[in-house]
Amino acid sequence: MTNTGYYNILNLNPNSTPGEIKKSYLKLSRQYHPDKNNTKEAEEKFKEISKVYQVLSDPEKRKLYDKFGEDFEKINSMQQQDPFGGMFGNFGFNFGGGNQVRKSSPISINLIVTLKDLYEGVSKKFKFQRKIPCKICEGSGLDVGKTHNICNSCKGSGKTVIINRNGNMIQQNISICFTCKGAGKSINKADLCKHCIGNRISIESIEKEIDIPKGIEIGNTIRMENVGNLEPDTDIPGDLDINMIIETPHPFLERKGKDILFSAKVNLYDALNEYEISFEHLNGKKYLLEGNGRDNVLKPGNYVLKNLGFPIMKSNKFGNLIIQVEILFPDKIDLSTNQQKKLRNMFKYDQLDKKDYLSDDFTKIPFPLLKESDNNEELYENEEECVNERNQGQCVHQ
Ligand SMILES: [Zn+2]
Ligand SMILES: [Zn+2]
Repeated sequence: MTNTGYYNILNLNPNSTPGEIKKSYLKLSRQYHPDKNNTKEAEEKFKEISKVYQVLSDPEKRKLYDKFGEDFEKINSMQQQDPFGGMFGNFGFNFGGGNQVRKSSPISINLIVTLKDLYEGVSKKFKFQRKIPCKICEGSGLDVGKTHNICNSCKGSGKTVIINRNGNMIQQNISICFTCKGAGKSINKADLCKHCIGNRISIESIEKEIDIPKGIEIGNTIRMENVGNLEPDTDIPGDLDINMIIETPHPFLERKGKDILFSAKVNLYDALNEYEISFEHLNGKKYLLEGNGRDNVLKPGNYVLKNLGFPIMKSNKFGNLIIQVEILFPDKIDLSTNQQKKLRNMFKYDQLDKKDYLSDDFTKIPFPLLKESDNNEELYENEEECVNERNQGQCVHQ
């Protein structure tokens, strides 16, 4: 007599196919899932159907359940395991534990955003392509009205057993059937679906919308669950991973973690007299920083505006805005003796005592030299050119 209790729980009977068992389980698990139904009874029911499915979806366990009922596990542990148990004659046997819901592979896409999007947080629509079961054959790969052949090599099990004899030792290796690649079935070429040519998939273009949280870092991925591929032989769609990329940099603002960098160039004259630095922030406001040389000469360096940086995720806080000030010097300045004197007075510098530098002990080099950042190649001349070097003492020869 076959035990029927587990089948009743899934609204099935002992003759149900593995496909029917899975279908019923998925339907009921959706219905009683704690996310949808948070009553105590639903929770118990959900646990029950999960437990039952673990047994009925595994051909070996199912066979034991049919024979011994709910206590099969106790009985089974006392018996010697049959290495071929349930392996033959079970069409559609699953590899890797048939009791798991199989999820399709994930998709990863790049979404182009702006710095402002990341600052404000934004809802963005986007399109992507995913694999779904072929719309014509519903993923079977078969032309209308045609059927599968059971694989001749493995008789439908999807597995082959190779027996190696090594003297007295007999070793059995089980591997995936080479002919059907584990499917247990095959299709004649003439019977292939004309739409997917037996690949069983269609490519679908779909649109989704995503909320980008403000302050998210580039390099962080947002995962949308179960909206990706739905491939053949899987039960639920894979996930979609969204990477954000900034294709066009902001014209003058740059992000550095939770801070924003703004680089300002001020010419020397303004830095000494009156200076203004203005910009439009990502928050939409316009800022004007102003000052004058009488109070403060503007010097190069980084100046911090607190709390005007990037929003910090999962908090109400902000980073800082850092103004990187560069002072632009003129290349030449032609001062008259009178102007020099005035300037010296203005800066309150004493006249340099040049006496020490007038002796002949010094090798004089015109200044300025090449800047290290200007042209690195010119700074490192090769050996031959070095021989012709006019400046003595600059080259070392071996
Ligand atoms: Zn098809
Ligand atoms: Zn096969």
